[in-house]
Amino acid sequence: MAEPKENVLMEKITSLCKRRGFIFQSSEIYGGIQGFWDYGPLGAELKRNVKDAWWTTMTRLRDDVVGLEATIIMAPQIWRASGHVDTFSDPMCDCLLTGKRFRADQVEPQSGIVYHYLGALGSASGAPVSPATNTFEGGFAPTMIEGWHSKNSQISLDGLTSAGIVQEIMLIWRSGAAAPLDQSVEHAMQWAEAVWQHLSRVQFSILLPAGKPPESARKIAKEFYAKRGLMSPLLLGERTEKVENSQRFNPENGAQLTPPVPFNLMFKTYVGPTATEADVAYLRPETAQAIFAQFKNVHETSRQKVPFGIAQMGKAFRNEVTPRNFTFRSREFEQMELEFFIKPDEAVEAISGAVAAPAAKGHPGEPQSNWGWQLWHQYWVEERIKFYGDIGISRDTLEEYWQKPEELAHYARACVDLLFKFPFGTQELEGIAARSDFDLSQHEKHSGKTMGVFDEDLRTAWGKLAPEKHAELSKRYYDNRLKYMLKTGVNQAQAEREAKEDADGLAKGQYIPHVIEPSAGTDRLILALLANAFSEVTTTDDKGKSETRVILKFHPRIAPVKVGVFPLLKNKPELVAKAKEVYQALRGQMNAYYDEAGAIGRRYARQDEAGTPFCVTIDFDTLGEKPELNLKDTVTLRHRDDGRQERLAISELLPWLLARVR
Ligand code: ATP
Repeated sequence: MAEPKENVLMEKITSLCKRRGFIFQSSEIYGGIQGFWDYGPLGAELKRNVKDAWWTTMTRLRDDVVGLEATIIMAPQIWRASGHVDTFSDPMCDCLLTGKRFRADQVEPQSGIVYHYLGALGSASGAPVSPATNTFEGGFAPTMIEGWHSKNSQISLDGLTSAGIVQEIMLIWRSGAAAPLDQSVEHAMQWAEAVWQHLSRVQFSILLPAGKPPESARKIAKEFYAKRGLMSPLLLGERTEKVENSQRFNPENGAQLTPPVPFNLMFKTYVGPTATEADVAYLRPETAQAIFAQFKNVHETSRQKVPFGIAQMGKAFRNEVTPRNFTFRSREFEQMELEFFIKPDEAVEAISGAVAAPAAKGHPGEPQSNWGWQLWHQYWVEERIKFYGDIGISRDTLEEYWQKPEELAHYARACVDLLFKFPFGTQELEGIAARSDFDLSQHEKHSGKTMGVFDEDLRTAWGKLAPEKHAELSKRYYDNRLKYMLKTGVNQAQAEREAKEDADGLAKGQYIPHVIEPSAGTDRLILALLANAFSEVTTTDDKGKSETRVILKFHPRIAPVKVGVFPLLKNKPELVAKAKEVYQALRGQMNAYYDEAGAIGRRYARQDEAGTPFCVTIDFDTLGEKPELNLKDTVTLRHRDDGRQERLAISELLPWLLARVR
């Protein structure tokens, strides 16, 4: 059967990445390590350009965002406060036959007939006991037990005890069935012991698609019991059941999966030389928490006032149960996160008279002082979509998924996932969440340090409000704070007391800022950019020979190499000297690549495959060999996407390129 088209594309992207040095498997010479990837020469440049673009857009070009670079290992209390220690887990299950691990919620649902078994009996590898008679020598005979069991199939194996077995055996012997030579109680007990030793009471089930013969199930079940040490297992208590869309079976072999158990995704390590439980620390599973933990320091030192943001990018680590789809779900990856702190709506209303109503769809324009969380959220969704457009991922290739109320975390007011159509399906590239004041409140609660800010504008405005307005805003603020306290387990009386204190604080100009969080994955974005840029052209030469070439149509801003510089011929020293001169002039300003090897067409093709948007060729006209053409000190500039060529003066080259690659 032909492979689905999208898998073919993914295959092509993966092999291109290896062939051209974008992405390699980590530790490849030792067989690799699952969920870890290295960026090669072109990939490292691409990633750097993407991070530069994000950093420039999110911090340097804004007056209201500053940067942070925090450590990967932080005090473990941070992860308790954030909820990661208790709840950052995925449901995990294992195949009972092969031990392969699955994320329980991602197992493909299946329908068919389930074959259940209560257990199995096996023959022994040697005589289980050594009675006087030769009945037992040479092994334990399953046929005897088969006879015994079929006569006594009403006996539930679940309730079986060794005393019960002895009794059963005595009964069978007395009735003459499968009777061994000696019928003493002692021997019955020895035989019972043998049964007991070679009985597995582990229940096991297999799902077969409808129409498959039961023998297939029995074969797998026998394999299962054999792995548990039973030789030639005899299956007990077979029973069938019809099921629809079950996620309890391994889609690859039908074997039963273990019940799902939560698996915490944080990587644990120890800080210091003693490595006791008290030294446990975690590799950060996200960059965001450091921003919250350093909020007060940044606020106090950066001279920023709410609303303002703190941006950070860097490594994050998640021990994903099933890393897959190339770099899409890795165990070590990078994130680019912004925490944008805003005033609670009650403060905005007190200051501006009213909170501006959410605008129609689209970008709401320049930020205004009367914006509440909804407009700020909408603003950041649109800003992020604009960012993607600026690096070549157009709006129409992205989908917005607004999480449904039941999907939201209890503290979140809204969350939009920006989805990209990856070759393996439409999946999340970035999430933009309105997280209320949950994060800073949690750190205030756990650290005992105040995370609130004092807002002079609020205090002044509050003083001018009518008493009814005081009451209305205080009540709303109180209700929100109370809800937070109760949700996080504070008892009613204490929650009411603290919520009242917070509402009183609001009247004095104090509050805990709310936050809007655009959180993007760098590696996922690189994969999206590769998939977005990937294109192929097939050309046929005069002899009818076809060739398919790859062109990576990266936006010039993020392309790993901005310009290729070639002398037309490598054996003409004047051409080579001039080309090297041009190359030297450009390389200090952008990543340029000099290439003199092979035919010019080959060199263009190599750069197309690397995604280089422009190539410059120094030819005889550059040297002014035909003065009548007036082309001295000009070069041929070739465009990657359509192969178009134009002539440009060397003196114009640098500004021309800079205008396009920055
Ligand atoms: P998912 O549901 O795909 O696991 P998430 O909702 O847990 O993602 P967040 O915690 O919101 O992800 O992280 C923000 C961003 O970090 C994601 O949108 C994604 O781009 C990136 N990211 C998260 N986990 C991984 C991973 N294992 N590998 C690569 N990137 C990741």
